[in-house]
Amino acid sequence: MSVAPQGITILGATGTIGVNTLDVIARHPERYRVIALTANGNVQRLVEQCQVHRPEYAVVADEALLDVLVQGLEQAGLQTQALAGVDALCHVASLPQTEAVMAAIVGGAGLLPTLAAAKSGKRVLLANKEALVMSGALFMDAVRENGAQLLPIDSEHNAIFQCMPADFQRGLASVGVKRILLTASGGPFRSWQHQDLQAVTPDQACAHPNWVMGRKISVDSATMMNKGLELIEACWLFNTTPDQIEVVLHPQSVIHSMVAYADGSVLAQMGHPDMRTPIAHALAWPERIDAGVETLDLFAVARLDFEQPDLQRFPCLRLAYEAFKTGGTAMAVLNAANEVAVEAFLTTQILFTDIPHLIESVLSSEAIHAADSIDAVLAADANARCAAQDAIQQKPWVKHL
Ligand code: NAD
Ligand code: MG
Repeated sequence: MSVAPQGITILGATGTIGVNTLDVIARHPERYRVIALTANGNVQRLVEQCQVHRPEYAVVADEALLDVLVQGLEQAGLQTQALAGVDALCHVASLPQTEAVMAAIVGGAGLLPTLAAAKSGKRVLLANKEALVMSGALFMDAVRENGAQLLPIDSEHNAIFQCMPADFQRGLASVGVKRILLTASGGPFRSWQHQDLQAVTPDQACAHPNWVMGRKISVDSATMMNKGLELIEACWLFNTTPDQIEVVLHPQSVIHSMVAYADGSVLAQMGHPDMRTPIAHALAWPERIDAGVETLDLFAVARLDFEQPDLQRFPCLRLAYEAFKTGGTAMAVLNAANEVAVEAFLTTQILFTDIPHLIESVLSSEAIHAADSIDAVLAADANARCAAQDAIQQKPWVKHL
Protein backbone atom coordinates (compact mmCIF):
# COMPACT_ATOMS: atom_id res chain seq x y z
CA MET A 1 0.00 0.00 0.00
CA SER A 2 1.44 3.39 -0.89
CA VAL A 3 0.91 6.30 1.50
CA ALA A 4 0.82 9.95 0.35
CA PRO A 5 4.07 11.78 1.12
CA GLN A 6 4.04 13.91 4.25
CA GLY A 7 3.81 17.68 3.68
CA ILE A 8 6.68 19.65 5.23
CA THR A 9 7.18 23.38 5.81
CA ILE A 10 10.73 24.51 6.50
CA LEU A 11 11.03 27.79 8.39
CA GLY A 12 14.58 29.06 7.83
CA ALA A 13 15.19 26.85 4.79
CA THR A 14 18.27 28.77 3.63
CA GLY A 15 20.20 28.27 6.89
CA THR A 16 22.42 25.41 8.00
CA ILE A 17 19.59 23.38 9.51
CA GLY A 18 17.29 24.17 6.58
CA VAL A 19 19.85 22.98 4.03
CA ASN A 20 20.50 19.79 6.01
CA THR A 21 16.75 19.16 6.25
CA LEU A 22 16.36 19.48 2.47
CA ASP A 23 19.28 17.07 2.05
CA VAL A 24 17.50 14.42 4.15
CA ILE A 25 14.13 15.05 2.48
CA ALA A 26 15.65 14.71 -1.00
CA ARG A 27 16.77 11.18 -0.08
CA HIS A 28 13.13 10.16 0.52
CA PRO A 29 10.87 11.67 -2.16
CA GLU A 30 8.32 8.91 -1.56
CA ARG A 31 7.95 9.96 2.11
CA TYR A 32 8.13 13.77 2.05
CA ARG A 33 7.03 16.66 -0.12
CA VAL A 34 7.94 20.26 0.51
CA ILE A 35 4.94 22.54 0.99
CA ALA A 36 6.70 25.80 1.90
CA LEU A 37 10.21 27.18 2.22
CA THR A 38 11.07 30.41 4.02
CA ALA A 39 14.08 32.73 4.33
CA ASN A 40 14.93 36.07 5.83
CA GLY A 41 16.62 37.76 2.90
CA ASN A 42 18.61 35.25 0.85
CA VAL A 43 16.24 35.27 -2.12
CA GLN A 44 18.73 33.74 -4.50
CA ARG A 45 19.22 30.62 -2.40
CA LEU A 46 15.49 30.41 -1.72
CA VAL A 47 14.70 30.45 -5.46
CA GLU A 48 17.38 27.81 -6.11
CA GLN A 49 15.82 25.63 -3.42
CA CYS A 50 12.39 26.14 -5.01
CA GLN A 51 13.77 25.00 -8.37
CA VAL A 52 14.87 21.72 -6.82
CA HIS A 53 12.02 21.08 -4.34
CA ARG A 54 9.01 22.74 -6.10
CA PRO A 55 7.13 23.94 -3.00
CA GLU A 56 3.65 25.51 -3.14
CA TYR A 57 4.87 28.58 -1.23
CA ALA A 58 8.09 30.56 -0.81
CA VAL A 59 8.18 33.21 1.91
CA VAL A 60 10.64 36.01 2.67
CA ALA A 61 10.44 37.52 6.14
CA ASP A 62 11.63 40.87 4.82
CA GLU A 63 8.58 42.39 3.07
CA ALA A 64 10.78 44.74 1.03
CA LEU A 65 12.08 41.67 -0.84
CA LEU A 66 8.70 40.37 -2.02
CA ASP A 67 9.07 41.82 -5.55
CA VAL A 68 12.54 40.34 -5.91
CA LEU A 69 11.19 36.94 -4.87
CA VAL A 70 8.23 37.19 -7.27
CA GLN A 71 10.62 38.04 -10.13
CA GLY A 72 13.06 35.28 -9.20
CA LEU A 73 10.33 32.64 -9.15
CA GLU A 74 8.90 33.90 -12.45
CA GLN A 75 12.28 33.88 -14.16
CA ALA A 76 12.80 30.33 -12.97
CA GLY A 77 9.43 29.40 -14.52
CA LEU A 78 8.01 28.23 -11.19
CA GLN A 79 4.38 28.13 -10.05
CA THR A 80 5.45 28.64 -6.42
CA GLN A 81 3.45 31.39 -4.75
CA ALA A 82 5.52 34.19 -3.19
CA LEU A 83 4.56 35.67 0.19
CA ALA A 84 6.29 37.99 2.66
CA GLY A 85 6.23 39.03 6.30
CA VAL A 86 5.70 37.44 9.69
CA ASP A 87 2.01 36.70 9.07
CA ALA A 88 2.96 34.77 5.96
CA LEU A 89 5.52 32.76 7.97
CA CYS A 90 2.76 31.88 10.45
CA HIS A 91 0.40 31.07 7.57
CA VAL A 92 2.73 28.51 5.96
CA ALA A 93 3.43 26.97 9.38
CA SER A 94 -0.32 26.32 9.79
CA LEU A 95 -1.45 25.12 6.34
CA PRO A 96 -3.69 22.05 6.41
CA GLN A 97 -1.47 20.24 3.88
CA THR A 98 1.58 20.77 6.14
CA GLU A 99 1.93 17.90 8.57
CA ALA A 100 5.37 18.72 9.98
CA VAL A 101 7.14 22.05 10.43
CA MET A 102 10.90 22.31 10.71
CA ALA A 103 11.37 25.34 12.98
CA ALA A 104 14.87 26.47 11.94
CA ILE A 105 14.72 30.25 12.02
CA VAL A 106 17.49 31.63 14.22
CA GLY A 107 16.61 33.67 17.30
CA GLY A 108 13.46 35.28 18.67
CA ALA A 109 12.27 35.98 15.11
CA GLY A 110 11.19 32.34 15.01
CA LEU A 111 8.86 32.54 18.01
CA LEU A 112 5.56 33.48 16.32
CA PRO A 113 5.81 31.10 13.34
CA THR A 114 6.99 28.22 15.55
CA LEU A 115 4.16 28.89 17.96
CA ALA A 116 1.72 29.01 15.02
CA ALA A 117 2.85 25.49 14.08
CA ALA A 118 2.25 24.29 17.66
CA LYS A 119 -1.15 26.00 17.82
CA SER A 120 -2.26 24.30 14.63
CA GLY A 121 -1.34 20.88 16.03
CA LYS A 122 1.60 20.10 13.75
CA ARG A 123 4.56 17.84 14.32
CA VAL A 124 7.03 20.55 15.33
CA LEU A 125 10.68 19.74 14.68
CA LEU A 126 12.32 22.24 16.99
CA ALA A 127 15.76 23.59 16.10
CA ASN A 128 14.86 27.18 17.05
CA LYS A 129 15.70 26.79 20.75
CA GLU A 130 15.39 30.54 21.36
CA ALA A 131 11.61 30.32 20.76
CA LEU A 132 11.23 27.79 23.58
CA VAL A 133 13.68 29.59 25.90
CA MET A 134 11.66 32.81 25.53
CA SER A 135 8.18 31.40 25.87
CA GLY A 136 8.74 28.21 27.96
CA ALA A 137 5.51 27.16 29.65
CA LEU A 138 3.34 29.05 27.13
CA PHE A 139 4.88 27.10 24.28
CA MET A 140 4.58 23.75 26.06
CA ASP A 141 0.92 24.53 26.86
CA ALA A 142 0.26 25.33 23.19
CA VAL A 143 1.76 21.97 22.22
CA ARG A 144 -0.36 20.06 24.74
CA GLU A 145 -3.61 21.93 24.19
CA ASN A 146 -3.52 21.60 20.42
CA GLY A 147 -2.31 18.01 20.17
CA ALA A 148 0.97 19.03 18.52
CA GLN A 149 3.97 16.72 18.67
CA LEU A 150 7.24 18.30 19.72
CA LEU A 151 10.44 16.61 18.57
CA PRO A 152 13.81 18.14 19.40
CA ILE A 153 16.36 18.73 16.64
CA ASP A 154 19.10 20.17 18.84
CA SER A 155 21.52 17.23 18.84
CA GLU A 156 21.73 17.02 22.66
CA HIS A 157 17.97 17.14 23.17
CA ASN A 158 17.37 14.74 20.35
CA ALA A 159 19.88 12.39 22.02
CA ILE A 160 18.14 12.79 25.40
CA PHE A 161 14.78 12.13 23.74
CA GLN A 162 16.18 8.95 22.21
CA CYS A 163 17.50 7.78 25.62
CA MET A 164 14.29 8.63 27.53
CA PRO A 165 11.46 6.19 28.21
CA ALA A 166 8.38 6.92 26.06
CA ASP A 167 6.26 8.23 28.97
CA PHE A 168 8.81 10.73 30.36
CA GLN A 169 6.18 13.50 30.46
CA ARG A 170 4.76 11.76 33.58
CA GLY A 171 7.76 13.16 35.46
CA LEU A 172 11.36 12.00 35.38
CA ALA A 173 11.40 10.51 38.90
CA SER A 174 8.31 8.38 38.25
CA VAL A 175 9.88 6.83 35.14
CA GLY A 176 13.14 6.04 36.95
CA VAL A 177 15.26 8.85 35.45
CA LYS A 178 17.75 10.28 37.93
CA ARG A 179 19.58 12.82 35.86
CA ILE A 180 20.17 14.20 32.40
CA LEU A 181 23.80 14.50 31.33
CA LEU A 182 23.93 17.34 28.82
CA THR A 183 27.15 17.20 26.84
CA ALA A 184 29.01 20.25 25.55
CA SER A 185 32.03 20.37 23.25
CA GLY A 186 33.28 23.49 25.03
CA GLY A 187 33.61 25.32 21.71
CA PRO A 188 36.81 26.62 20.13
CA PHE A 189 38.12 28.27 23.32
CA ARG A 190 37.65 25.43 25.79
CA SER A 191 41.31 25.35 26.76
CA TRP A 192 42.17 29.05 26.24
CA GLN A 193 43.32 31.25 29.10
CA HIS A 194 40.83 33.92 30.18
CA GLN A 195 43.17 36.81 29.27
CA ASP A 196 43.47 35.54 25.68
CA LEU A 197 39.70 35.58 25.13
CA GLN A 198 39.55 39.40 24.88
CA ALA A 199 41.25 39.44 21.52
CA VAL A 200 39.25 36.74 19.72
CA THR A 201 37.80 37.71 16.35
CA PRO A 202 34.36 36.81 14.97
CA ASP A 203 35.95 34.36 12.53
CA GLN A 204 37.82 32.60 15.33
CA ALA A 205 34.63 32.38 17.37
CA CYS A 206 32.71 30.94 14.41
CA ALA A 207 35.30 28.23 13.69
CA HIS A 208 33.72 25.47 15.76
CA PRO A 209 35.97 22.41 16.14
CA ASN A 210 33.24 19.81 15.43
CA TRP A 211 30.10 21.37 13.95
CA VAL A 212 29.37 23.60 10.93
CA MET A 213 26.64 26.01 12.04
CA GLY A 214 25.19 29.50 11.49
CA ARG A 215 27.21 32.40 12.93
CA LYS A 216 24.89 33.20 15.86
CA ILE A 217 24.87 29.68 17.30
CA SER A 218 28.61 29.39 16.64
CA VAL A 219 29.30 32.43 18.84
CA ASP A 220 26.85 31.03 21.42
CA SER A 221 28.88 27.81 21.44
CA ALA A 222 32.10 29.77 21.93
CA THR A 223 30.68 31.72 24.93
CA MET A 224 28.81 28.60 26.12
CA MET A 225 25.57 30.60 26.11
CA ASN A 226 24.46 27.87 23.74
CA LYS A 227 24.74 25.39 26.62
CA GLY A 228 22.88 27.83 28.86
CA LEU A 229 20.04 28.10 26.33
CA GLU A 230 20.10 24.31 25.97
CA LEU A 231 19.88 23.85 29.73
CA ILE A 232 16.68 25.92 29.74
CA GLU A 233 15.45 24.15 26.59
CA ALA A 234 15.95 20.77 28.32
CA CYS A 235 14.03 21.91 31.41
CA TRP A 236 10.97 22.74 29.30
CA LEU A 237 11.19 19.79 26.95
CA PHE A 238 11.72 17.18 29.64
CA ASN A 239 9.67 18.79 32.40
CA THR A 240 12.56 19.10 34.85
CA THR A 241 14.78 21.64 36.66
CA PRO A 242 18.48 22.55 36.31
CA ASP A 243 19.35 20.55 39.49
CA GLN A 244 18.57 17.38 37.56
CA ILE A 245 20.80 18.35 34.63
CA GLU A 246 24.56 18.04 34.68
CA VAL A 247 26.62 19.75 31.98
CA VAL A 248 29.50 17.51 30.92
CA LEU A 249 32.30 18.78 28.67
CA HIS A 250 33.01 16.19 26.02
CA PRO A 251 35.34 17.67 23.40
CA GLN A 252 34.93 14.97 20.73
CA SER A 253 31.13 15.52 20.31
CA VAL A 254 30.60 11.81 19.72
CA ILE A 255 28.21 11.27 22.62
CA HIS A 256 25.41 13.80 22.06
CA SER A 257 24.01 13.51 25.61
CA MET A 258 22.99 10.87 28.16
CA VAL A 259 20.25 9.88 30.57
CA ALA A 260 21.12 8.37 33.97
CA TYR A 261 18.59 5.99 35.55
CA ALA A 262 17.83 5.03 39.16
CA ASP A 263 19.38 1.58 38.68
CA GLY A 264 22.78 3.01 37.73
CA SER A 265 22.33 2.63 33.96
CA VAL A 266 23.51 5.51 31.81
CA LEU A 267 22.13 5.52 28.25
CA ALA A 268 24.02 7.52 25.64
CA GLN A 269 23.26 8.36 22.01
CA MET A 270 26.35 8.46 19.81
CA GLY A 271 27.06 9.39 16.24
CA HIS A 272 29.01 11.67 13.95
CA PRO A 273 28.50 15.37 14.64
CA ASP A 274 26.16 15.72 11.66
CA MET A 275 22.75 17.40 12.12
CA ARG A 276 21.20 15.15 9.48
CA THR A 277 20.99 12.39 12.13
CA PRO A 278 18.66 14.24 14.55
CA ILE A 279 16.78 15.75 11.58
CA ALA A 280 16.13 12.30 10.06
CA HIS A 281 15.24 10.91 13.48
CA ALA A 282 12.62 13.58 14.12
CA LEU A 283 11.24 13.51 10.57
CA ALA A 284 10.65 9.77 10.58
CA TRP A 285 10.00 9.12 14.30
CA PRO A 286 9.13 6.48 15.44
CA GLU A 287 10.57 4.92 12.29
CA ARG A 288 14.22 5.17 11.20
CA ILE A 289 15.40 6.33 7.79
CA ASP A 290 18.71 6.87 5.99
CA ALA A 291 20.18 10.30 6.83
CA GLY A 292 23.22 10.05 4.56
CA VAL A 293 25.41 9.73 7.66
CA GLU A 294 27.99 6.94 8.03
CA THR A 295 27.93 4.69 11.10
CA LEU A 296 30.46 5.74 13.69
CA ASP A 297 33.85 4.04 13.41
CA LEU A 298 34.74 3.51 17.07
CA PHE A 299 38.30 2.47 16.22
CA ALA A 300 38.79 5.83 14.51
CA VAL A 301 37.22 7.65 17.49
CA ALA A 302 39.50 5.63 19.82
CA ARG A 303 38.84 7.68 22.97
CA LEU A 304 36.17 9.77 24.66
CA ASP A 305 37.09 12.50 27.17
CA PHE A 306 34.94 14.21 29.80
CA GLU A 307 35.60 17.33 31.90
CA GLN A 308 33.70 19.61 34.24
CA PRO A 309 32.76 23.04 32.80
CA ASP A 310 34.49 26.10 34.27
CA LEU A 311 31.69 28.53 35.21
CA GLN A 312 34.28 31.26 35.91
CA ARG A 313 35.63 31.22 32.38
CA PHE A 314 32.19 30.79 30.79
CA PRO A 315 29.85 33.06 32.82
CA CYS A 316 27.04 32.77 30.23
CA LEU A 317 26.20 29.32 31.55
CA ARG A 318 25.80 30.77 35.06
CA LEU A 319 23.62 33.62 33.69
CA ALA A 320 21.30 31.08 32.07
CA TYR A 321 21.01 29.09 35.33
CA GLU A 322 20.13 32.31 37.16
CA ALA A 323 17.58 33.40 34.54
CA PHE A 324 15.79 30.06 34.79
CA LYS A 325 15.73 30.35 38.59
CA THR A 326 14.33 33.90 38.37
CA GLY A 327 11.67 32.65 35.94
CA GLY A 328 9.00 34.75 34.19
CA THR A 329 10.33 37.01 31.47
CA ALA A 330 13.95 36.69 32.68
CA MET A 331 14.63 34.06 30.03
CA ALA A 332 13.26 36.28 27.25
CA VAL A 333 15.48 39.09 28.56
CA LEU A 334 18.51 36.78 28.67
CA ASN A 335 17.87 35.65 25.11
CA ALA A 336 17.24 39.14 23.71
CA ALA A 337 20.32 40.64 25.39
CA ASN A 338 22.38 37.74 24.10
CA GLU A 339 21.12 38.18 20.52
CA VAL A 340 22.02 41.87 20.57
CA ALA A 341 25.40 41.16 22.20
CA VAL A 342 26.30 38.47 19.66
CA GLU A 343 25.36 40.73 16.75
CA ALA A 344 27.43 43.57 18.29
CA PHE A 345 30.40 41.20 18.64
CA LEU A 346 30.01 39.93 15.06
CA THR A 347 30.02 43.54 13.82
CA THR A 348 33.04 44.31 16.06
CA GLN A 349 31.24 46.87 18.24
CA ILE A 350 32.10 44.96 21.43
CA LEU A 351 34.71 42.41 22.48
CA PHE A 352 34.05 38.71 22.90
CA THR A 353 34.53 39.08 26.66
CA ASP A 354 32.01 41.95 26.77
CA ILE A 355 29.18 39.58 25.80
CA PRO A 356 28.43 38.20 29.32
CA HIS A 357 28.91 41.62 30.94
CA LEU A 358 26.43 43.19 28.56
CA ILE A 359 23.87 40.44 29.20
CA GLU A 360 24.34 40.64 32.97
CA SER A 361 23.89 44.41 32.94
CA VAL A 362 20.62 44.11 30.97
CA LEU A 363 19.37 41.32 33.24
CA SER A 364 19.99 43.45 36.31
CA SER A 365 18.39 46.61 34.87
CA GLU A 366 15.23 45.13 33.29
CA ALA A 367 12.05 44.60 35.31
CA ILE A 368 11.03 40.92 35.26
CA HIS A 369 7.34 40.10 34.90
CA ALA A 370 5.24 36.96 34.78
CA ALA A 371 5.51 35.32 31.35
CA ASP A 372 1.74 34.79 31.25
CA SER A 373 1.07 35.83 27.66
CA ILE A 374 2.99 35.98 24.40
CA ASP A 375 2.50 39.75 24.45
CA ALA A 376 4.30 39.90 27.82
CA VAL A 377 7.16 37.82 26.37
CA LEU A 378 7.38 39.97 23.22
CA ALA A 379 7.34 43.18 25.29
CA ALA A 380 10.17 41.87 27.51
CA ASP A 381 12.08 40.89 24.39
CA ALA A 382 11.65 44.33 22.77
CA ASN A 383 12.56 46.23 25.95
CA ALA A 384 15.63 44.10 26.57
CA ARG A 385 16.82 44.69 23.00
CA CYS A 386 16.53 48.47 23.50
CA ALA A 387 18.31 48.23 26.86
CA ALA A 388 21.10 46.18 25.30
CA GLN A 389 21.52 48.69 22.44
CA ASP A 390 21.74 51.52 25.00
CA ALA A 391 24.23 49.53 27.03
CA ILE A 392 26.43 49.10 23.95
CA GLN A 393 26.58 52.89 23.59
CA GLN A 394 27.07 53.64 27.30
CA LYS A 395 29.05 50.59 28.37
CA PRO A 396 27.70 50.47 31.97
CA TRP A 397 29.14 46.98 32.40
CA VAL A 398 32.71 48.32 32.27
CA LYS A 399 32.55 48.63 36.07
CA HIS A 400 32.38 44.83 36.25
CA LEU A 401 35.66 44.35 34.37
P1 NAD B 1 21.50 30.01 10.11
O1 NAD B 1 21.94 31.37 10.44
O2 NAD B 1 22.38 29.15 9.26
O3 NAD B 1 20.05 30.06 9.42
C1 NAD B 1 19.01 30.80 9.96
C2 NAD B 1 17.77 30.77 9.08
O4 NAD B 1 16.81 31.66 9.66
C3 NAD B 1 18.00 31.27 7.65
O5 NAD B 1 17.18 30.56 6.76
C4 NAD B 1 17.56 32.73 7.72
O6 NAD B 1 17.11 33.20 6.46
C5 NAD B 1 16.41 32.64 8.70
N1 NAD B 1 16.21 33.91 9.41
C6 NAD B 1 17.16 34.68 10.01
N2 NAD B 1 16.60 35.78 10.55
C7 NAD B 1 15.28 35.72 10.28
C8 NAD B 1 14.18 36.57 10.56
N3 NAD B 1 14.33 37.73 11.22
N4 NAD B 1 12.95 36.18 10.15
C9 NAD B 1 12.77 35.03 9.48
N5 NAD B 1 13.79 34.19 9.16
C10 NAD B 1 15.03 34.52 9.56
O7 NAD B 1 21.21 29.27 11.50
P2 NAD B 1 21.24 27.70 11.81
O8 NAD B 1 22.61 27.31 12.24
O9 NAD B 1 20.57 26.94 10.72
O10 NAD B 1 20.34 27.66 13.13
C11 NAD B 1 18.94 27.77 13.06
C12 NAD B 1 18.35 27.44 14.42
O11 NAD B 1 18.67 26.08 14.73
C13 NAD B 1 18.93 28.28 15.57
O12 NAD B 1 17.93 28.54 16.50
C14 NAD B 1 19.99 27.38 16.17
O13 NAD B 1 20.20 27.63 17.54
C15 NAD B 1 19.36 26.01 15.96
N6 NAD B 1 20.34 24.92 15.92
C16 NAD B 1 21.26 24.88 14.93
C17 NAD B 1 22.19 23.85 14.92
C18 NAD B 1 23.22 23.74 13.82
O14 NAD B 1 23.97 22.77 13.82
N7 NAD B 1 23.29 24.67 12.89
C19 NAD B 1 22.18 22.87 15.92
C20 NAD B 1 21.20 22.96 16.91
C21 NAD B 1 20.28 23.98 16.91
MG1 MG C 1 23.03 21.65 20.56
